[in-house]
Parts: sequence; C-alpha cells; structure tokens
Amino acid sequence: MDKPMALERVEGKTKIVLHKPGTDEVTIINKDDITAGDGARREVMAGKGVIATTTASNCFCLLNNAGLPTHFRRQLDDVSFLADWVDMIPLEVVARRIAYGSYLKRNPEVRAGKWFDSLVVELYFKDDARHDPYVKYDGRIKRWMLYDAKRPLTCQRIDTLEEITTARGNPVSVMHTYVLHALAQAVFTILEHAWAQQKVELVDLKIEGGLQLDANGQSTGLIVVADDINNDGWRIWPGGVAAAMLDKQQFRDQAMVTPEFMESLKRDYVKVAKMT
Ligand code: C5P
Repeated sequence: MDKPMALERVEGKTKIVLHKPGTDEVTIINKDDITAGDGARREVMAGKGVIATTTASNCFCLLNNAGLPTHFRRQLDDVSFLADWVDMIPLEVVARRIAYGSYLKRNPEVRAGKWFDSLVVELYFKDDARHDPYVKYDGRIKRWMLYDAKRPLTCQRIDTLEEITTARGNPVSVMHTYVLHALAQAVFTILEHAWAQQKVELVDLKIEGGLQLDANGQSTGLIVVADDINNDGWRIWPGGVAAAMLDKQQFRDQAMVTPEFMESLKRDYVKVAKMT
C-alpha cells in the first residue's frame, strides 16, 4: 500500500501553512504570536489565533462576495481556514488614505494626517534582514530599486536587483505589480467602506498576493489576494482619531510590554474581530 505523502509545512511568524501534495489547497493556521520590528519583538497573546481567524474570515468573505480574487475558501475551525495553494509574491503592497507611519519618514515634507483623495499604493520587498525595503521598478534600466523604507527617498538607494522571484522561483514581472496595485486599491476601498459604516477610519492597509496554483503546482495565471488580512496589517482609527487606534500599531509603539498592556491590547483585538 502507498504510504500517504507527508504534509508540506511552512511556518511563519504568525501562522503555519500546510499543503497536502497533489491538491490545490492549503490549511492556514493562525498562531497566538504577535511580533514587531521584523520579528525582533515577539509576545504571545492567548487567543490571538482565534481572533485573527475570525477577522480574516469575515474580511475575506466580504472581498470574495464583492468578486475579488482571493485565496480564501472557507473557515475550517477556530484557528484555521482553507485557502488556494499559491506561489507567494515576496512583496508587501500598502494602500494609504492618510499619511502616517513609514510614509512620513520617506516623505518628511508631508504633514502627518494628510488625506489622499487618490489612494497611495506602494511596494516593499519582503526581506527581514534589510527591514523590508521600499521597492520601485525602473523600466529604463530594467532593475528593481530598493530604498530604506524609513529614510527620505532622496537618500541613496540601498541596492538594485535584476530579478525578484516568487517563493517557487518564478520571476515577478511589472505586470504582476500592476495587478497587485489594482487589488490593493480594490481591497482598501471595500474595507474602507465597511469600516466607515461603523465610523472607523481605515488609514492604511497591507496585502500580499500569490500566483494561484493547480494541484500539480502550475500557475493558473490568476493572481489572488493571499496571506492574511487582520488587525496586524492595517491601521484603524475610530472617529478618525489616531489616539483611539485599535490595531497593532499600539504594540509597535509600546517599548515596555506589561501584562496589563497585553490585556488591553487583546480587548481591542477582540473588539475589532466582533466589529468585522
Ligand atoms: O509602517 P507603514 O506605515 O509602512 O505601514 C503601512 C501599513 O502596512 C500599516 O497598516 C501596517 O499595519 C502594515 N504593515 C504590515 N506589515 C509590515 C509593515 C506594515 O502589515 N511588515
């Protein structure tokens, strides 16, 4: 009798992805970890896996119902959901309505809180060792230009790359980035509208994309919104007031984490999950 094939397992900072060979689906399990500083700071928030799964499932259902291509299929249990198997594109795609966070470091001439009538969409190359540099493709010299995400863009670029490749080694093209750009705008617009109904301002949001794979590991040609959408990857301000923020920015800003702080943060995470 054939031995059942072992599950392929990829463990990230906040989730575990399991793929059963020969299928086009994966199980994504959310962990209880919360991290900041590219993983340099890490705490465990008991129950975060459940909270993140609720938030992600609710958001992805909304996006799927709006007709957007996402990897989400269905929630499996408290801490996991079923998703398309994808070849992850190593880019973070950020859409911004309000100037805040790293945008202000790259563009110090811009006033904090400036409202963008047209969403600003930016790309960052996923590279923890280099703190996820800001990236732009220069079509004239056919290279990807990397800049320090936390310094003015007028500073020297930190590197250039001839090629960016997906997790499975396929080259990322400029066309892929156009699709990611459009997906980030669409995701932002849908979630911004949903949050506005509860008088919460969606300030900015990060998504990641992947090339959808068939059961043989071949690309189907579709780029889908992949990874996770939850309270770790957006900024949300009730009433448009920054001091009322409910998201992970509180953890990034907190140098000394106490049990009381973690309890208060967890209350906010639970509140956000209930609101989605
Ligand atoms: O720090 P920055 O202003 O670039 O963050 C923009 C948005 O992207 C925020 O909503 C933040 O939560 C999200 N983000 C993320 N993961 C990162 C960096 C930023 O989810 N590694």
